[in-house]
Amino acid sequence: MSARAYFDWNATAPLRAEARAAVVAALEVTGAASSVHSEGRAARAVVEKARGQVTALVGAEAKSVVFTSGATEANMLALTPELIALGKPFTCDRLLVSAIEHASVLSGGRFAADKVERLPVTGKGVVDLSALRAALKGVDRPLVSVMHANNETGVSQPIADIAAIVHEAGGILHVDAAQTAGRIDCDIVALGADMLTISSHKLGGPQGAGALVLNGPQPATPLIRGGGQERGFRAGTENVAAIAGFGAAAEAAARNREVAASRIAALRDRFETRLQAEFPDAVIFGAGEPRLPNTSLVAVPGLKAETALIAFDLNGIAVSRAPPAHQARSAPRTCWPRWGSSRRWRPARSASRWAGPPRRTKSKAF
Ligand code: PMP
Repeated sequence: MSARAYFDWNATAPLRAEARAAVVAALEVTGAASSVHSEGRAARAVVEKARGQVTALVGAEAKSVVFTSGATEANMLALTPELIALGKPFTCDRLLVSAIEHASVLSGGRFAADKVERLPVTGKGVVDLSALRAALKGVDRPLVSVMHANNETGVSQPIADIAAIVHEAGGILHVDAAQTAGRIDCDIVALGADMLTISSHKLGGPQGAGALVLNGPQPATPLIRGGGQERGFRAGTENVAAIAGFGAAAEAAARNREVAASRIAALRDRFETRLQAEFPDAVIFGAGEPRLPNTSLVAVPGLKAETALIAFDLNGIAVSRAPPAHQARSAPRTCWPRWGSSRRWRPARSASRWAGPPRRTKSKAF
């Protein structure tokens, strides 16, 4: 086994020790969380402890946390034209999503394709607020979905401003916080989000768990119908072990978030300064914008992302390209603000994403 340096935390973060311990302990619990006997109640207690830990991460005022299989499913659950707000049906005419959303939001969830509209982003990688205002005009009961920070550039979005605009227009705001929960402050009330998506494996929990956090408005219909688990929002026997790991990871992430964020941001800045010194023409996407502390999307002229990634991998470094290979062909051009574009080269073709913090791993891959 050789040592590797893992820089792909935005795809999935390494499992935290606390999460691993919680998963292993929960696997010893026999019951299903809906059963009324002692074993079932023990499983229920594990799930409810995790619900409390996740609630604390996103602001204790959150009204409810619905566990799902991950952020993709949470986005699908949230993005429905049939919502309930203030106890009454709220049928949305239109879904507005930013052009840089994750594929699970861009696909429009449960909306018909002709009801989904994409909002442009500025050259700084931020949602264009005047385009948002214009798009909201004349739309009755819109649902708007904007991510808290972009998974590729790390650029964070002015969610509180967006919330004010959306609420003023009588709409509901869903925020995909898959990349921010546990990394930067993600208080649902401070953000002004009505629904918030989070993912376990981006913050050091196991893969296969996530949550839709509700702050008032809620989907009127479940995505998965069946036994009525998760207060009827998501049928199916709860994945107790994954949920336990998610909760433990959320608690651990909340505990050292601020210290970790400033340490990681300092490392990122050092990396970018040295890269720029070595390659003065390198493009650092979103530099100078509020960004996730751990993310650096960079492009060096003449170096194709694919070639670079293979070379890094062979030298023990795991980074990724952006947009990811499976989206590259279909990704609309609007996803890529034209940072540094010139006739000579297209930085997006050369972009590699370094998402830390750097972590040495022992890999069996070699
Ligand atoms: N939203 C964003 C912003 C993401 O980065 C990702 C994962 N790349 C997802 C949603 C999907 O998350 P999950 O793997 O938990 O379904």
